[in-house]
Amino acid sequence: MKKVLVIGAGFSGAVIAHQLAQAGIASHVVDARSHLAGNCHTERDEQTGVMVHKYGPHIFHTDNERVWEFINRFGTFMPYVNRVKSTVGGAVYSLPINLHTINQFFGKTLAPAQARELLASLGDSSIVDPANFEEQALRFVGRDLYEAFFKGYTQKQWGLAPSTLPASILKRLPVRFNYDDNYFNHKYQGMSRDGYTSLVEGMLSHPLITVSLDTRLGRDAAAGYDHVFYSGPIDGWFDYSEGRLGYRTLDFEPIRAEGDYQGCAVMNYGEEGVPFTRIAEHKYFSPWETHEKTIAFKEYSRACGPDDIPYYPIRLVEEQAQLRRYIELARQEQKVSFVGRLGTYRYLDMDVTIAEALAASDAFLEHVRQGTPA
Ligand code: FAD
Ligand code: UDP
Repeated sequence: MKKVLVIGAGFSGAVIAHQLAQAGIASHVVDARSHLAGNCHTERDEQTGVMVHKYGPHIFHTDNERVWEFINRFGTFMPYVNRVKSTVGGAVYSLPINLHTINQFFGKTLAPAQARELLASLGDSSIVDPANFEEQALRFVGRDLYEAFFKGYTQKQWGLAPSTLPASILKRLPVRFNYDDNYFNHKYQGMSRDGYTSLVEGMLSHPLITVSLDTRLGRDAAAGYDHVFYSGPIDGWFDYSEGRLGYRTLDFEPIRAEGDYQGCAVMNYGEEGVPFTRIAEHKYFSPWETHEKTIAFKEYSRACGPDDIPYYPIRLVEEQAQLRRYIELARQEQKVSFVGRLGTYRYLDMDVTIAEALAASDAFLEHVRQGTPA
C-alpha cells in the first residue's frame, strides 16, 4: 500500500486526498493552520451570526463542467451574481465598466454603439500593443476612466505603479457596452450555502484519509512517504535558497454594526487617498439568510513579510527569474508534486485550483496503475 502525504488542506490538498481515497489509496493530510480550507476558509462570526470569508471574499465561478459537477457533490450551491461598486470622486459607480458606468461617469444617456464610439475616441490609438497595465487601460478606456477606477486602486493593491505591472492583470476585467454588471462571464456562478469549509470537510471525510491540523511539515517529512503532494510555498520547501518570492499580503479590519453597513457585498475605493482598497460586507454573500447585525471587512494591501500570510504572487521580472530556479529545483525532487497557488506561485481561482488538483490526481493514479514512478 502506498504511503502518501498531502501538505495543505486547502482545495488543492483536499481534492487530491479525496480522489486518491476514491481510488483506494490512503493519505495523511496536514495543515499548519487550525482549520481546513486554506484561504477559502469560512466561519460564522460569533457576534453577528454571519458567515464570514476569513481571508477575503470568495465567489465560485467556472466554465469547467467537470469542476462544477465535482464541487456540487459536496454541498448545495445557491445562485449568486457578483456585483461590485466603486466609490470615486464622491460618487458611486457600477463595475466592471459597463454602459451604466459610462453614462453616469460622463453624464450621458448613450446607447451601446454610441458608448463604444466614445471609448474608441478616448482610447489612445497610438498604443498598438499595450506593454503594461497602464498602456492597456489608456488604449481601451482612455485616461479619465483609467485614473478614476484603475490607477489609484492598482497602486494600492500592488504597491507599484501600473506602468510596471503586466497588462494581463487588467485583462481579467471586462468592459461592457450594455447594462450587464455581473463581475464574471462564466457559465456557472454560485455561493456554497454552508460556506467553503464544509465542502472541504466533505472531501476529506473518508475512512482512507487522516487529517492533522496545527501541523507544519516540510522537506524533512518526505522521507517517510512514497509520495508527497505539497501545496505550501515552493520557496519555503527549499528553505528560501534562491531568496523569497514576492507576495502581497492583506490586513482585514472588521466593522460590526446593526442592520446594514454599506448595502452591497463589495465596494471598491478607486482613489489612492483612501488607504484601503475595498470593503466587503459578508452577509451579502449569503443573500438567502437574514441577519439583524452585520460585519464588514476593510481590506488593506501591503508587502508580505516573512511572518505574514502570502495572498497575491507579484510575479514581476525578478520573481519570474527566481521562480524558474525554484521550478528547476522542483523538477529534481523525486516523488514530490508541487500543486496549488503557493506550490506553483500563480494566482489561481478556485475552479482552476480544483481542475489542476483533479489533473494531478489523475496523473498520479495513472502512474500507480502502470507501476511507473510518479
Ligand atoms: P490555499 O488555500 O492557500 O491552501 C494552502 C494551505 O497549505 C494553507 O491552508 C496553508 O496553511 C497550508 N500550508 C502551507 N505551507 C504548509 C506547510 N509547510 N505545512 C502545512 N501546511 C502548510 N478564487 C475564486 O475562484 N473566486 C474568488 O472570488 C476568489 N477570491 C479570492 C480573494 C483573495 C483575496 C485571494 C487572495 C484569492 C481569491 N481566490 C478566489 C483564489 C483562492 O483563494 C484560491 O484558488 C485557493 O485558495 C487555492 O487553494 P490552494 O489549496 O492551492 O491554496
Ligand atoms: N482593479 C482596479 N480597480 C478596481 C478593481 C480592480 O484597478 O476597482 C485592478 C487591480 O489591479 C486588480 C485587477 O484589476 O488587481 C484585477 O481585479 P480583480 O477584481 O480580479 O482583483 P482580485 O479579485 O484578484 O482582488
